[in-house]
Amino acid sequence: MRRKLVVGNWKMNGSRPANAELLAALVAARPFGCDVAVCVPFVFLGETAAQLAGSDLRWGAQDVSAQAEGAYTGEVSAAMLHECGCRYAIVGHSERRAYHAESDELVAAKAQAALGRGVTPIVCVGETLEQRDAGQTEAVVKRQLSAVIHTLAHCAAEMVVAYEPVWAIGTGRTATPEQAQAVHAVLRAQLQAATGHADRMRILYGGSVKADNARALFAMPDIDGGLIGGASLKAADFIAICRAGG
Ligand code: PEP
Repeated sequence: MRRKLVVGNWKMNGSRPANAELLAALVAARPFGCDVAVCVPFVFLGETAAQLAGSDLRWGAQDVSAQAEGAYTGEVSAAMLHECGCRYAIVGHSERRAYHAESDELVAAKAQAALGRGVTPIVCVGETLEQRDAGQTEAVVKRQLSAVIHTLAHCAAEMVVAYEPVWAIGTGRTATPEQAQAVHAVLRAQLQAATGHADRMRILYGGSVKADNARALFAMPDIDGGLIGGASLKAADFIAICRAGG
């Protein structure tokens, strides 16, 4: 039985006072009965680590450099994330693929860099509305995941995968549990063929998950939790979603 994982993706939101309040509420609301983490902007990692230390809540980043170190202005390395106690790094979020032109190969290199430092990559895959309407969903997510599987090779079973249909992110439009489950089953079959260990790998769903739809999504056999954007910024909403994973 896979333990569910709920991860908040704060994106470029937050402030010191607001973060302190949100994290204190999460700490006070434990235990959740599932694994819970928050992926915060780089500049807040130190304070997040300090506030969550000693709890069973984990933290992570929303990106990581594919490079180890050196003259890469603005980049943050996996070693630095490890030093900040990060358990996770999101890679290949659709906003980075779209606004920063991240290719499947770059996403794979970032996942490899993270794993090399003991930081678990949360690899995001997902189709646009045009691709779904054209019947390309399966081909798109398999292509995105295949690049990472190929690069990680024997370590591929160590990643977390997040299926995030682009048309459902921040739009209020959620995939139905059945739509999400269908894609998760495809991804799990692909992971099983590549690693032989897909039964212990977690595949999260992301895209307008809210307190009122989380339970139905998490009840699907291949949905192992969620990657939560907007709703992770409101303590009551995020706590309710985490409880749905318990
Ligand atoms: C996300 O950014 O990963 C996400 C799923 O956002 P939202 O929950 O706001 O759709």
